[in-house]
Amino acid sequence: MAKLYFRYGAMNSGKSTALLQAAYNYEERGQRVLLAKPAIDTKDADRVSSRLGVTRPVDFLIPPDADLRTLFAVHRDRVKEDAEASLLPDEQPPRRADVACLLLDEAQFLTPTQIDDLLRIVVLDKIPVLAYGIRTDFRTEAFPGSRRLMELAHSLEELKTICRCGRKALFNARLVGGRFVFDGDQVAIDELTADRVTYESMCAECYLRESGGRLDGR
Ligand SMILES: [Zn+2]
Repeated sequence: MAKLYFRYGAMNSGKSTALLQAAYNYEERGQRVLLAKPAIDTKDADRVSSRLGVTRPVDFLIPPDADLRTLFAVHRDRVKEDAEASLLPDEQPPRRADVACLLLDEAQFLTPTQIDDLLRIVVLDKIPVLAYGIRTDFRTEAFPGSRRLMELAHSLEELKTICRCGRKALFNARLVGGRFVFDGDQVAIDELTADRVTYESMCAECYLRESGGRLDGR
């Protein structure tokens, strides 16, 4: 049975590396996958990039207003057509001509409606979906897409990374020009600001020390 998987973690927990490894594992067995990410993510535009240096273009970008199930169906049909076009006359299409899995990077930026579509793709279209993303923003609040994935996914798996103190990191503190900030937009989209924005994965203890006890901007 196909399942919806949400593999989440703080920033720098190796999500893109894990995604590219999962894609490789499918393809090593002769199966086809589709890679996608939300169009809102301006970093590396249309690629999935691992911090280890491995990078690969996505098969399609997902605009915020896109009907994700329909968009997926279009690309699934293209994969099937490509596979059938390469067959010899009278040759039956192999089962692997279909998409074996949909892999999503930066899934926190999908809308809750698009996450609903992921469950439909899994259950109604019977295609497994592996979504990778960050659980919470720099103010410790869930991204709407991540919250919906927490509600709907068949399987939740945490990818772990370490805080500077050695504990497991839970949160993503934002720095602007090297200074911690705890107010601002959920996504730093202002280009002037975005250049100076960095993040540090932190445990709760270190986060609360830097924020002076504030959570959620309060
Ligand atoms: Zn810490």
